[in-house]
Amino acid sequence: MDTSNVYEFLKNKVPLFKDFGSEEIKELIDKSHVTTAITNEAILEFGQKGEFLGVIIEGSAVVSIIDDNGVEQELASLSKGDIFGEIALMSGDLVMANLVTRSKFIFLKIPSDIFTTLVLSKPSAMTCLIKILTKRSKELAFKEQHRNLSFQAEIKSSDPHGLMLSSSKPELMLIINCGSSSLKYALYDTESTGCKVSGVVERIGLKDPVHKSTSKNVNIKCTTHTEAFELVSAFLIDNNYIKSTSEITSMGHRVVHGGNLFAAPVIIDKNVIEKLEKIIPLAPLHNPANIEGIKLAFKKFENATQVAVFDTGFHHTLPAYAYLYGLPYKYFEELGVRKYGFHGISHSYVSLKTAWFLNRPYTSMEMITCHLGNGSSVCAVDHGRSIDTSMGMTPTSGLIMGTRTGDVDPGALCYIAKKDGLNPDEMDTLINKKSGLLGMSENSGDMRELTSAANGGDYKSLLAIKTLCYNLRKYIGSYAAAMQGLDAVVFTGGIGENSALIRSLACQGLEFMGIILDDEQNRAADSLNEPVIISAQESRIQVLMVPTDEELMIARETLNVKNIHNETNSNNIKNEIPVEVSAHHIHLTEEHIRILFGEGHKLTPVSNLSQPGQYASKERVTLTGPKGSVDNVRVLGPARSKTQVEISMTEQFKLGVHPPIRESGDIEDTPGIRLTGPNGSVDIKKGVICAMRHIHMTPRDAILMGVRDRYIVSVKIGGERELTFGDVIVRVSPDFSLAMHIDTDEANAADIKSNSVAIIESIQSKK
Ligand code: ADP
Repeated sequence: MDTSNVYEFLKNKVPLFKDFGSEEIKELIDKSHVTTAITNEAILEFGQKGEFLGVIIEGSAVVSIIDDNGVEQELASLSKGDIFGEIALMSGDLVMANLVTRSKFIFLKIPSDIFTTLVLSKPSAMTCLIKILTKRSKELAFKEQHRNLSFQAEIKSSDPHGLMLSSSKPELMLIINCGSSSLKYALYDTESTGCKVSGVVERIGLKDPVHKSTSKNVNIKCTTHTEAFELVSAFLIDNNYIKSTSEITSMGHRVVHGGNLFAAPVIIDKNVIEKLEKIIPLAPLHNPANIEGIKLAFKKFENATQVAVFDTGFHHTLPAYAYLYGLPYKYFEELGVRKYGFHGISHSYVSLKTAWFLNRPYTSMEMITCHLGNGSSVCAVDHGRSIDTSMGMTPTSGLIMGTRTGDVDPGALCYIAKKDGLNPDEMDTLINKKSGLLGMSENSGDMRELTSAANGGDYKSLLAIKTLCYNLRKYIGSYAAAMQGLDAVVFTGGIGENSALIRSLACQGLEFMGIILDDEQNRAADSLNEPVIISAQESRIQVLMVPTDEELMIARETLNVKNIHNETNSNNIKNEIPVEVSAHHIHLTEEHIRILFGEGHKLTPVSNLSQPGQYASKERVTLTGPKGSVDNVRVLGPARSKTQVEISMTEQFKLGVHPPIRESGDIEDTPGIRLTGPNGSVDIKKGVICAMRHIHMTPRDAILMGVRDRYIVSVKIGGERELTFGDVIVRVSPDFSLAMHIDTDEANAADIKSNSVAIIESIQSKK
């Protein structure tokens, strides 16, 4: 079909383009591709990433899904003039259905960026798309089945977490990690797999600086980070990795500390640099070098979007009871003294990689990730969220490290300071540079040297290693308890990836909790550059060695931030979202309704809730936990497939239960409770959750506000005093109406009333 026919067809036969001008249609055709397929060809496959919008020019196709019983169900058939692929593009989800041709098939393939710039920006097209989206997402049974479908899609996808760095437009990305005396870099081209080149300039400003790259090590002269930057750019150009610095389209910078100001990666501008400078007191050793790197990058790589990715960012989801210290509250409020956690880039990378490697949905897993290098930390990753980690306000706490103490009685430190007359700076040097494995062994902070000394019978070296492994074992046990379950333990970092001995000593004795290593596999795992399972077949919990790749993760985050920015920029309308304070409530299954209220009982609606189809019923139940009871908890209808109890923090306390923060519907490894109704009682084994703050909205709201399903956003709520809440999940469904739901206690503490309004302030990430 020639272009003029396609033009006539789009203009006259496809409702989506009815208000497009001739030039706009021509531009659209120019930037898209007319593609031909044969009969029975799969054009869209379940689990694939949404990369284009299709418009059928000729032929027909069938849309189908595989239902919970593994049976293929046809949802719709499409023909000439219909569009497809819009759900994945507009929801940001993976493709949730198959589209298979039923005849010879010609379609226009509109790439996602062209879709965003030329189609979504047109109000009439947007209205048309919203209608189609609303109808189709209903057909896909978005509600309860949606979670299952998205899990299946994730498992089917070859790259569900974007770790292969695919982008709709080619990107040449330089990743920079500036330490106090080093500059690490890695270059990625999204058109090819893997890293083109990586390296590090070490000992900047010290004796004998050296440049180590993938190809060779060269001794150099280098006294400042500026010189290191010059050297790296010259190296990239001289070795033909790039033609000029202007070719770099994106740069991702690792920033160690984001403090309370940054929960997610950001595109850097003047404002961001000012904020970063404010955080310097929290990370005086690391952040200044990071900021210097960013400023140099702006000068040297003028065409690149600069993005900051924070080592603290992943731990932003820690609940207050995990991040607060037992210090006077004013130090948290006035000085920001709390646990922030570090190595977040590595913990999030290896946890994603593990889920992918084990072929399991990320947000269904409980993992403990152990990053063991010169600096070491452990992290509890509960259904995709970091809920605790061993490093604290600074990277000194937790495990014993190369030269850092790890956990020490703070009283002991005061005692030492007094006895030795050390001032705060000297104490800082003591706990960061002279302690840990080095301090204990009085020999070395390097695990290789320590291991060989211990092998030779050096008692203190041996003791230092044993102490580290004992520490690790305790953290594994305590984080399994914190998550109330465990699926996988993951080792990474220089020691975690290379020392079978440390992995083995850390896991020994944990057979009682289902951790059994396969010694041979464990030994064989050393220095492999890919993930490997090191637990025995009969081990209930899987143990893995997964090499970390912080640079790749920074590149992935950089691409994500850019995509979110591009997708949302054109429609960034700040809509007001009504806030609803959620009182306690319970959803029941048919079976539990029968037990509590009697055979054949039907719930009696008393008022409709803002979410269409949902109602508050007359029925109430009493909850009884280990400590006490809460009466009159209202049942919401209609019946669901799982019984679920959502209660405020005060009520959790009254009952004596401690549920995790979860999305509605995700009740694995949550506490149970007794429910009592007029007809009887039932003890549920699980189902009590502390609901994640969330916003319900329709696809139309989502598009208008420039967000997608499962985006994690930060929200500003107006009122007496304005407040910002991070970590709010956006849930999109045609069945929802616009509202933000917030826990009663949280609302009371912040003086938020049910008639307040919220505005989305920024997008943090996509879950
Ligand atoms: P950083 O935390 O600075 O990124 P790494 O992750 O590179 O550091 O880890 C450095 C640590 O890994 C050192 O203690 C080093 O001795 C240890 N390590 C590297 N290779 C081995 C090995 N084969 N056996 C034991 N430890 C090793």
